[in-house]
Amino acid sequence: MPSVPHPATDEHPAIVLGGGIGGLAAALALHRRGIPVAVHERAASLEPVGAGLALAPNALRALDVLGVGARLRALAVRHPAVGLRRPSGRWLARTDTEAVQRHFGDPVLAVARAELVAALLAALPPGTVRTDSPATLVDAGDAQAPALVDTPDGRREASLVVAADGIRSATRAQLFPDHPGPRYSGFTTWRTVIDNPERPPAAVGEVWGRGALAGIVPLAAGRVYVYAAALAPAGEHAADGDEHAELLRRYGSWCAPLPELLRATDATRVLRNDVWALTDPLSAFHRGRVALLGDAAHAMSPFQGQGACQAIEDAVVLAAELPSPLPESGPFAALRAYSAARLPRASRIVAGSHTISRLVAVRSRPGVLLRDGALAFAGRLPDRVLLDRSAPTYAWQPPVPAAQ
Ligand SMILES: Cc1cc2nc3c(=O)[nH]c(=O)nc-3n(C[C@H](O)[C@H](O)[C@H](O)COP(=O)(O)OP(=O)(O)OC[C@H]3O[C@@H](n4cnc5c(N)ncnc54)[C@H](O)[C@@H]3O)c2cc1C
Repeated sequence: MPSVPHPATDEHPAIVLGGGIGGLAAALALHRRGIPVAVHERAASLEPVGAGLALAPNALRALDVLGVGARLRALAVRHPAVGLRRPSGRWLARTDTEAVQRHFGDPVLAVARAELVAALLAALPPGTVRTDSPATLVDAGDAQAPALVDTPDGRREASLVVAADGIRSATRAQLFPDHPGPRYSGFTTWRTVIDNPERPPAAVGEVWGRGALAGIVPLAAGRVYVYAAALAPAGEHAADGDEHAELLRRYGSWCAPLPELLRATDATRVLRNDVWALTDPLSAFHRGRVALLGDAAHAMSPFQGQGACQAIEDAVVLAAELPSPLPESGPFAALRAYSAARLPRASRIVAGSHTISRLVAVRSRPGVLLRDGALAFAGRLPDRVLLDRSAPTYAWQPPVPAAQ
């Protein structure tokens, strides 16, 4: 995606730091509340890092508030055989995707990250996002003074700063210096998209092995998103730097269609990332006139597929709490309400993702037998029981915005 020129204006009472999914969703949510906003992204382009993304019904409801839900739902792909298998191919549980749709109004939708970024960007006024623009919070502001942000164009004043600067958020470290920061989850991940597989995958979903899993997710236009996670020391890479060969080495003997898909993968499109998470919750998601949002506030391991979903929820809740126009004296009541609404929910989902990561981490044969037995048992429970377990996350409803 090209770098977008920025309008030569200082009239942005709100500044967003970071143009990832969280930052773009926040900018769009503020814009739709009538709050002029500028996004500073330090990367040279918004070319999204990452491959596919699961958007659960809770995120789709939030995306509806942002006016982009329908565009993303048009990318939905249905598959007859979805579920959880062992590396041998034996099914542990099948997922009734229609039941999720019936119960929550939407399926868990898989999209390419680029599609989500493009949808958010297209809904923003041109020039909202400035790339190649690292920005630093200088002062969080208070009731007497605005927040101050240094940008490549000089120092900017803001009634509100949204720090969506990701898991390594410098803003979080600045505002919460006593917080221990992210901890390594024990897992590394690989992600890739195969554009033209020889044949569509006959079975999709996840495969759980010993301390490792792999996932196969069909995307629109016949593409297939493949991801994998395995226990590994932080910072480890394939010995010869060839992560494609590493994927084949680790997963090449797992059940079909994984080996075939991995062989068809373009080696240059394999991403490897270690998983870190903010397992120690922050004491608040705001300080002064600054709201922390997305991974900056609550980075979680990806095993529930909720990190970006929660960032999008954050954006919608923050904007709903804010008065428009932003008061010069600072939107402090709104920021307190934002923390109060988001912190318990996001922390619970961070903890839930961590619990799932512990299940994936099981390596011993007896442990795996026990775990898989429990998963198979759960898979035989009535849909209702499993859907009820997802309800606290999936049934979330966006708030009604404060009166203007
Ligand atoms: C393997 C894997 C699979 C995942 N799968 C899913 C899934 O299926 N569903 C889901 O919901 N979530 C998923 N997630 C989580 C999801 O990717 C993240 O939660 C989400 O992308 C976080 O978005 P963000 O905008 O908060 O942070 P980021 O995407 O990290 O964006 C932060 C941005 O801030 C910029 N930045 C940083 N510092 C500055 C600065 N000083 N000035 C300007 N810009 C700055 C960075 O360049 C970056 O672009 C997955 C994560 C992983 C690792």
